[in-house]
Amino acid sequence: MPELPEVEVTRRGFADTIFGATIVAVHMGKPLRWPLGIAPGQLAGRRVGHVRRRGKYLLVDLDEGLLLIHLGMSGSLRFGTGLPPRGMHDHFEMETSQGTLRLHDPRRFGAVVWAANEQAPEVRARLSGLGMEPLSADFDFAAFYAGLRVSRQAVKQWLLAGKVVVGVGNIYASEVLFLAGILPTTCANAIGVQRAKRLHAAIQEVLAQAIERGGSSLRDFSGADGSAGHFQLETKVYGREGLPCHKCSTPVRLLRQGQRSSYYCPRCQKT
Ligand SMILES: [Zn+2]
Repeated sequence: MPELPEVEVTRRGFADTIFGATIVAVHMGKPLRWPLGIAPGQLAGRRVGHVRRRGKYLLVDLDEGLLLIHLGMSGSLRFGTGLPPRGMHDHFEMETSQGTLRLHDPRRFGAVVWAANEQAPEVRARLSGLGMEPLSADFDFAAFYAGLRVSRQAVKQWLLAGKVVVGVGNIYASEVLFLAGILPTTCANAIGVQRAKRLHAAIQEVLAQAIERGGSSLRDFSGADGSAGHFQLETKVYGREGLPCHKCSTPVRLLRQGQRSSYYCPRCQKT
C-alpha cells in the first residue's frame, strides 16, 4: 500500500512539470472507490496549479476547483508525454497541454474526486480527521506529547491511527519505534517526555529518509516504468524476524498487534 513517503515522492515527480498545464480531456475507466463528482468533459480547459499533499491525499489545484487523489491499496500515478495506450487497470487519465496524468489501480481502492474548494464536504470529510503533518513546521512537540499522554493505546496502534500525526504506516511504525528505543506494546501514556522527544524526532527522520531514498529510486518516474506505488526500503527491523539486530545482534522478533505485524529488538527497545 502506498504510504506517505511514496505519495510525497509521487507528488514531487509531477508537481513542477504539470504546473500551468491546461486540461485537454479526461477519460475514466471502471469505477474507483468514490465517484469523480463532475462530468469529465467539464474539466477540459481548466488550468492546473500547485500539487499539494495532506496525509496520503494529493490535492491538485485547478483554476476552478481541485482534484483530490488517493492511491488506495494499489494505485500509482504517472505523468508524462508519449505514454503507451491506456490499459485495463488505468481508470483515470487526464490529458493536458504538458503531458498526461494517469492513475493505474488494479484493485480500484484509489479515487479521484473533484471538489469546488477545500471546504466542500467531499474534501472535509476526508481531511478533517487527519493528524499533524510529520514533515511540516506544524509538527508541534507539545501537541504530540499531549496526544500521547491522553491515550491508553499501545504506542504502535496509536501511531497507526494517525489522529495526532499522520504518515506512520505499518512498516514505518516498526522502524520509528526501533529508532526511538520503544517497544511497540508500550502504552502511549507511559512514555515520558524524553522518550517522547526521541519518538517525535524518529518519525521525522524515518519518513524523511524514506522520501529521500524513494526520490532517488524514482528518477524514471515519467519514463517507461513510472510505477511509483511501492519502493524497496532498507529496513532496520521490519521484515527481519530472526535476523540479527543491526545494533546489538539479538534476533529481531515479530508480534501481532491488531492483525498487523510489529517487528522489534527485545534488547534495544524498552517498555
Ligand atoms: Zn538490538
